[in-house]
Amino acid sequence: MDEHRETIFGDNLWLHHVACSDGDKKPCIWSSPEGGNNINIGKQIFCNRSLNMKNIVAVGFDMDYTLAQYKPETFESLAYDGTIRKLVYDLGYPQELLEWTFDWKYMVRGLVLDKKRGNILKMDRHKYVKVAYHGFRELSKEDKVGTYGNTLIRDSFDEPDYALIDTLFSLAEAYLFAQLVDFKDNNPGKVPEGADYAHMYKDVRAAVDLCHRDGTLKKMVAKDPKKYINDDTAIVPMLKMLRDSGRSTFLVTNSLWDYTNIVMNFLCRTRTIDGNNTCNFDWLQYFDVVITGSAKPGFFHDDSRANLFEVDLESGMLQNTDDGTPMPQVGEISLRLLPEGQPNGCRVFQGGNVGHLHKLLSIESSSQVLYVGDHIYGDILRSKKVLGWRTMLVVPELEREVELLWELKDMRKQLRLLRNERDHIEDRIHHLKWSLKFEDLNEDNKQQISATLGELEDQRDEKRLSHQQAQRECHQMFHKVWGQLMKTGYQNSRFAHQVERFACLYTSQVSNLSLYSPDKYYRPSEDFMPHEFHILPL
Ligand code: IMP
Ligand code: MG
Repeated sequence: MDEHRETIFGDNLWLHHVACSDGDKKPCIWSSPEGGNNINIGKQIFCNRSLNMKNIVAVGFDMDYTLAQYKPETFESLAYDGTIRKLVYDLGYPQELLEWTFDWKYMVRGLVLDKKRGNILKMDRHKYVKVAYHGFRELSKEDKVGTYGNTLIRDSFDEPDYALIDTLFSLAEAYLFAQLVDFKDNNPGKVPEGADYAHMYKDVRAAVDLCHRDGTLKKMVAKDPKKYINDDTAIVPMLKMLRDSGRSTFLVTNSLWDYTNIVMNFLCRTRTIDGNNTCNFDWLQYFDVVITGSAKPGFFHDDSRANLFEVDLESGMLQNTDDGTPMPQVGEISLRLLPEGQPNGCRVFQGGNVGHLHKLLSIESSSQVLYVGDHIYGDILRSKKVLGWRTMLVVPELEREVELLWELKDMRKQLRLLRNERDHIEDRIHHLKWSLKFEDLNEDNKQQISATLGELEDQRDEKRLSHQQAQRECHQMFHKVWGQLMKTGYQNSRFAHQVERFACLYTSQVSNLSLYSPDKYYRPSEDFMPHEFHILPL
């Protein structure tokens, strides 16, 4: 057993590790020098549902926040600044907003905004609100329970009253919403007349939306992609590996062609010493089909009647197609018998639906497709549930989270111990109280029990406090406000629950695929119910 395996043995992570990286002994063709062994825990691919890559004939990718990992410190700041300017200059918010700054680390994915009340919530998989802030002020336990603790009327915590922060694109708008809530509370006369919390949220949403559409963000990224997008030199080898193994590869993105071309050029460029690169179409050699402006999640609906247009690469002009076959203009002299592709065969489209894509790739069954995306609702949920595609979710936050889990192993063990001790003392107290109340005891016994009870109650208070403190400390090590992405206390977070239900695989970076054989059989770890935990066969 190598050192890495030995060290994580005994932790639940080990189960995943063994399940996912047992490295079959076949000759390896995957692109990583590591050859599938000894993969750093932060880069592993975790499996919720068995997936045999041998059955996959086409692997598809989303682009933004999947292949292209934006740097939130620059990219989300750009969205934040652009949104503020629109609020001030177009929607009548006061000039002082222009001086506000953005803490890009404050918000995390998986949070829920309560638009009406101006609250930001983190909940567990049962939709119990575990952490709640009004703007930037933490709600007291009483307020939290009073507002969200009614178990008879279970809220769905969904649109239209709530907004889900489920993509990294939403971090800036969530932060701005919290700032505006604080601002309104402290300066009620300064926000536009009649603007309640929900109205302010609507304004922020509209302004962010416009930043994505009017070029505010895309022009800046186009000018200097390396400032906004992480370089990942493993993407091209990964795509080559998949194609060499006989898989088709495709791209389905909601971005339009001009922007897609810029981003993909940056990611797939040949790195020259002087750093100069002109935009070309070389990157298309790594794909069979590219669909831009796909309008996911609608794209995944089989009955979507969206037209499919072919994109002229040079001009960006759209050409009508008949389900992918080019249509001649009236008066055009020759009809082409074969669809005309680029020299390498890759064709670029805009719009359409999944039926078009299946036809273009000659896919017989949707279970032969693996799609890799970053958005549970836009990329993963619909494609898996409606369509039956197999899915992999990219969660960049995961790398740090699993590394921290590992670093905090002893602390977490201590926490579990404290929790057990507290529970044990509580049980003894209940038992003694029962005896005092219902058993026929003499005075001596009663006094003895009462004294023990007093001692135990002191111990319980002490353990409770230590446990609470240790828990808070542990929570803050992950994130000072929201704690661990995948957990709320001892329960899986709502986000984790969605990942578990909807993503067959999940990992921190798309290029982690290159660390595994393209024929890998991904198998999930064994499920455990609470009654099994005490009798784990280790
Ligand atoms: P994908 O992830 O590759 O499918 O592309 C996502 C696209 O959606 C990018 O072009 C984003 O700029 C765009 N986008 C993200 N959020 C919004 C929004 O709120 N309004 C409009 N476009 C958005
Ligand atoms: Mg995306």
